[in-house]
Amino acid sequence: MGTHQPLPSFLPVDNPTQPFWRTEPHPLDELRSTEALPGQSDIVIIGAGYSGVSIAYHLLKHLDGHNKPHPAITILEARQICSGATGRNDTNSTQVSGIKGAKACLSYTSGTLWPYKLILGLLSKVADSPAVNVQAFTPVTSVVSDSSGHIIHTPRGSVRTSKVVYASNAYTSGLLPEYSASIVPCRGICCHIGIPEGKTAPFLPYSYGIGTKTGESGGSYLISRPDGSIIVGGAQRTFIDRKDQWYAVIDDSTLIEPTKDYYNDFMQRTFKGWEDSGAYVKEIWTGSECFQAGGYPLG
Ligand SMILES: Cc1cc2nc3c(=O)[nH]c(=O)nc-3n(C[C@H](O)[C@H](O)[C@H](O)COP(=O)(O)OP(=O)(O)OC[C@H]3O[C@@H](n4cnc5c(N)ncnc54)[C@H](O)[C@@H]3O)c2cc1C
Repeated sequence: MGTHQPLPSFLPVDNPTQPFWRTEPHPLDELRSTEALPGQSDIVIIGAGYSGVSIAYHLLKHLDGHNKPHPAITILEARQICSGATGRNDTNSTQVSGIKGAKACLSYTSGTLWPYKLILGLLSKVADSPAVNVQAFTPVTSVVSDSSGHIIHTPRGSVRTSKVVYASNAYTSGLLPEYSASIVPCRGICCHIGIPEGKTAPFLPYSYGIGTKTGESGGSYLISRPDGSIIVGGAQRTFIDRKDQWYAVIDDSTLIEPTKDYYNDFMQRTFKGWEDSGAYVKEIWTGSECFQAGGYPLG
């Protein structure tokens, strides 16, 4: 395929909303290990998110542990490294203490992390290996298979391989249409809420899953950052009836219309002591994850 031809519409868009997690880009964010694609590779991994990068990392670690040689691994990523769901999620859990009008509270041990930094950290451990070739901004447009293996086509050339790993999450059925009924991209929304200089608000020591009065699903998931700012997302109940906004939607360049203003005064409405905090949405973004038909997340 020549570079002048339009790219297939199932690919990640090239102007996504900016998530908080990607505001401190790592030096390997746009890594291209070599100028040209390798013509051949033992394994091609499509997608450089949590799945794609950790597969490469653990495969090499496992082989090292068994003193086995490394196969040539090529990772092809349509945009920057970790620019899909892994760089766009809300990374959540626990507790309701401090919530206005809370009727019940359930607590359990949980953790939070900066997913982008975790994955770029893993990548930096394998990126120097001569066995690993990473190519950012290299969308896979098709995979053609025959008895001798697979040819992975991209606008920058093709790679022949005997093994393909589809780590492409919400975008997978674009390359494997036979899965389009069973793997469905579903769009979600998240934001980063800050407090203006000179204002204060009680520090929230937990992560929160906040349900609704009637107990239906579709509440919000919230974590607090060490600087007191907040990452919160979810709110499915505000857009669940607008299927055009989220079901089978891979476009993360726009917000979810019914929900785009929902978090503007969310902290003031929800948490005791935050009424005069001036809390405001600093970044808001969308991302698509991969759902099995029936509503269970796959990715
Ligand atoms: C809004 C939102 C909130 C979430 N909240 C949470 C949460 O709180 N807790 C939790 O555990 N999980 C959460 N998730 C889910 C979690 O983020 C995903 O399960 C996980 O990141 C999936 O990782 P992945 O590597 O499989 O997919 P991704 O990170 O999506 O990686 C897939 C990569 O493949 C690339 N790609 C796709 N097609 C092609 C192609 N044709 N050619 C080349 N590259 C391609 C994409 O650009 C992308 O970088 C959330 C997801 C979203 C979107």
